Amino acid sequence: MGRYSGSVCRLCRREGVKLFLKGERCYSEKCAVERRNYAPGQHGQARRKSTEYGLHLREKQRLRRYYGVMERQFRRYFRVAAKRKGVTGDALLQQLELRLDNVVYRLGLAVSRPQARQLVSHGHFTVNGRRVDVPSYPLRPGDVVGVREGSRDLALIRENAAAAASRGLPTWLEFSADRLEGRVLAVPAREQIDAPVQEQLVVEHYSR
Ligand code: SF4
Repeated sequence: MGRYSGSVCRLCRREGVKLFLKGERCYSEKCAVERRNYAPGQHGQARRKSTEYGLHLREKQRLRRYYGVMERQFRRYFRVAAKRKGVTGDALLQQLELRLDNVVYRLGLAVSRPQARQLVSHGHFTVNGRRVDVPSYPLRPGDVVGVREGSRDLALIRENAAAAASRGLPTWLEFSADRLEGRVLAVPAREQIDAPVQEQLVVEHYSR
C-alpha cells in the first residue's frame, strides 16, 4: 500500500485531535479541527457507539498518523518494543521519537513531521557529519544532527530555525542556532513525549 496522499486535515478530524501535520496553519483558527470538530464524511456527525476493538484501533491509528509511519513499519516498532525490558508502550514511543524526521521537527528545522520527512529524504541533513536521507533513521544519545553544507543557505530551513526559537525545545535535545546543529542528549522519558495517545491501548491492540 502506498503513502496516504489525501487531505491530512481529514486525518486529524477522523482522530478527533490535532496531529500538527501542516505547520503554521495548525496553530491558527483555520485549523480544520477547530472549525469542524467531527469526523469527516457523510456520517461524520452521527453518534456511534464504539466497541473495545474500535477504541484500540483508533488509538493505534492516531499514534501512527501522528508520526507519519506506515502500518508495516509501525508493527515492526511494536515487535522491537515488545522484546525490550520495561514498559512496552514507552519503548514504542521512544523509537518513534528518535526517528530522524521527528528529531528534525523537534529541533525546529521543519514546521511539521511531513515537511521534516521530505527535507530528510531530499538529503538536506547529516548525522554525525554523514549525509543521511532515511527519515526513519534511528538516532541514539550523543548523535549530532546537522544541516548539510550545500543546504545551509536554504531559506526554508533558515526561516524554520529562526521561528523555532520561540517554540521551545524538548529537554532531551540541545540545539545551536549558529551552527544549525542539534544533539540528542538522552532517550526521552514518557513524560517528555507529548504524543496525544494512551499507548497502553495501542499495546492491547497488538496483543490481542
Ligand atoms: Fe490537523 Fe493541522 Fe489540519 Fe489542524 S491544520 S486539522 S492540526 S493538519
